[in-house]
Amino acid sequence: MQERTQALEATLGKLAEVNKQLHVLSTTDGLTGVMNRRFFDENYPIEWLRARREQLPLSIIVVDIDYFKKVNDNYGHSAGDECLKIVASTLKNLVKRPADAVSRFGGEEFVMTLPNTDLLGASYLAEHIREHIEALRIDIPDHNLQLTISLGVATTIPSAEVEPEALFCLADDALYTAKDNGRNQVVTRQMP
Ligand code: GH3
Ligand code: MG
Ligand code: MG
Repeated sequence: MQERTQALEATLGKLAEVNKQLHVLSTTDGLTGVMNRRFFDENYPIEWLRARREQLPLSIIVVDIDYFKKVNDNYGHSAGDECLKIVASTLKNLVKRPADAVSRFGGEEFVMTLPNTDLLGASYLAEHIREHIEALRIDIPDHNLQLTISLGVATTIPSAEVEPEALFCLADDALYTAKDNGRNQVVTRQMP
């Protein structure tokens, strides 16, 4: 009887481990290795609630590669994919805190969730990232590519009256302003 219980416990342990691995796989972006949109959709509302409970600032940064269509059109999709991987790993390497998350939100768009980070901190990080990407020289066959990104930053201390989507929309709106103003720049918004 005891042997059977132990065998059952071992099987359940393995199952839990496999489940964990499956969850990691299903929340990771296959191309770039950063988190995917599913992860963001799960994680962001949790961070929102945590920040609301603790009354701490929460920042998000939305990143979009400038004129990325041209990279694909001029150098092909595998060059485009290479750029996506390099941008993703640059973002990941430049965010340092364990609670920070980098997710690939769509094709060439990324979102960073930064708990306990105020507008000044998030803006500083965004500008640092922008400079890093601008300085990269990306090696693809026969070429050395340069890329720029536009970034929208938004910060708030969450309250019960506001939905988490509002902060994301504000960051997205800031991103579009950055595009309109000529790209390769950071635009910031503080939500009251
Ligand atoms: P903008 O500066 O306004 O952002 O211009 P853009 O060309 O980056 O933006 P647009 O939204 O017009 O095009 C996005 C392009 O990104 C379309 C496609 O060529 C490319 N793209 C999206 N997802 C992928 C992907 O997974 N792999 C590759 N190689 N390219 C992708
Ligand atoms: Mg885009
Ligand atoms: Mg783009």
